Amino acid sequence: MASRSILWFRRDLRIGDNPALNAALAAADEIVPVFILEPKLMKEMGTKRAAYLSDSLRALDQSLGGNLNVIAGDPIKVLTELKKQYQANSIHISAEYEPTGAARDAAVEAAGIELTRTGSPYAVAPSRVRKPSDGTAYKVYTPFYRAWLVHGWRAPATTPKKIPTVKVDPANKAIPDAPWPAGVIKSQAGEAAAIARFKVFKKNSLSNYDESRNLAAIDGTSKMSAHLSFGEIHPRSLLADLGDSAAHDVYRKEIAWREFYADVLFHNQHTETDYYAPQFAKMRYDKPGAQFKAWCEGKTGFPFVDAAMRQLLSEGWMHNRTRMVVASFLVKDLHLEWQLGERFFKEHLIDYDVASNAHGWQWTAGSGTDASPYYRVFNPIEQGKRFDPDGDYVRRYIPELSHIAGVKVQEPWDQSDGYKNQYPKRIVDHALERVESLARLEEIKASKPGP
Ligand SMILES: Cc1cc2nc3c(=O)[nH]c(=O)nc-3n(C[C@H](O)[C@H](O)[C@H](O)COP(=O)(O)OP(=O)(O)OC[C@H]3O[C@@H](n4cnc5c(N)ncnc54)[C@H](O)[C@@H]3O)c2cc1C
Repeated sequence: MASRSILWFRRDLRIGDNPALNAALAAADEIVPVFILEPKLMKEMGTKRAAYLSDSLRALDQSLGGNLNVIAGDPIKVLTELKKQYQANSIHISAEYEPTGAARDAAVEAAGIELTRTGSPYAVAPSRVRKPSDGTAYKVYTPFYRAWLVHGWRAPATTPKKIPTVKVDPANKAIPDAPWPAGVIKSQAGEAAAIARFKVFKKNSLSNYDESRNLAAIDGTSKMSAHLSFGEIHPRSLLADLGDSAAHDVYRKEIAWREFYADVLFHNQHTETDYYAPQFAKMRYDKPGAQFKAWCEGKTGFPFVDAAMRQLLSEGWMHNRTRMVVASFLVKDLHLEWQLGERFFKEHLIDYDVASNAHGWQWTAGSGTDASPYYRVFNPIEQGKRFDPDGDYVRRYIPELSHIAGVKVQEPWDQSDGYKNQYPKRIVDHALERVESLARLEEIKASKPGP
């Protein structure tokens, strides 16, 4: 009888540049590929992300000749039964580092199921990059980035020419059919879509990325985030295509932010939900109410903020510049805790990534790692004028303002017909809230942890 190994897919829904797949193939004559629908993860998953996952699993299934097992249940039970059913010799995974996934894998192993780890969702796995002086983890991005470059990463793994798979038992084929919610623009999922999108980005935008990545209205960023989140492409494959120009350098630095935050979360697991700089837990915050609801719905009366929130609701993605602006608005204009926004993003982002989300929020809130001191308060109006200078972004997402031309759309209160389509009035006075925010900071007399 042919020997068999199991490949347990999780955040690596691809066949190219997949070391765990190669290891599973090397270990046996044929593989049993499986994705497990873990009840807790599925319950917490937002509807847009669930629809994307369904599409991504269908694409992976196609790449595997229709033989992907998709089984709902507890991984210990599913893997035990699968191993027995196919008399598999080994179970292969890509190593997991984020708290929930790592704990799940540890629980599987504690139940006596051996897992063979090969590769990870990162170019350089968390905890590999350490300070040469004392071997501790970096707390500041720039020195991390330099050390990450010096550490380097492997070339992309080869894509197998043939993938012998065991014919799937129809009982094990529960690919979910989660629909795209009404009114949401469907994102293209799957490995082929990831590769195609990166090609388009390289051709049209990469050479100008350093200049255009901050302009919210244009298609100037790679939109690789959902593909990376589901592992439809490996960051190594993206890095392998980069050269030495300033624009390529900036793109490499963005990939490194993802790796930095994964490293920070690995070393500070509580920061998924708790303050990295603990003194910020003592700050005075308001309770969520009508203003939070207005923020969630894109009805704050600040056009740049509202356009961004409506982009999130209708696309499951938001431009990085506006992620910072809406996060700053929630924490510093509405005086709400960052976790409220973090959870809302978790529910709506297709590219949700536990480390990048929690630390993207904490960076903006000022309670996270380096770079954004709390006293830096984004001005939502000036940000709009600077990063959406023609107003196209605002008009695209806010039909109530589509009659106002150019940059004037950022300030409807200055237009005689600004409110003719019932666009909401501003829910706060930014100048006053900025002062209030700084006063609250004084109260905790924040001192952040050093590098
Ligand atoms: C409040 C807040 C929440 C965020 N939540 C998430 C999240 O849940 N998931 C997520 O992937 N990113 C998150 N980010 C980071 C960033 O906004 C997105 O990665 C980026 O907008 C995705 O678009 P893109 O792929 O076109 O990015 P590009 O500009 O093309 O960048 C390429 C890749 O680099 C990585 N990257 C870029 N910027 C960052 C960054 N600031 N931090 C970490 N990685 C980065 C991403 O993997 C991205 O796909 C968050 C940022 C903020 C400020």
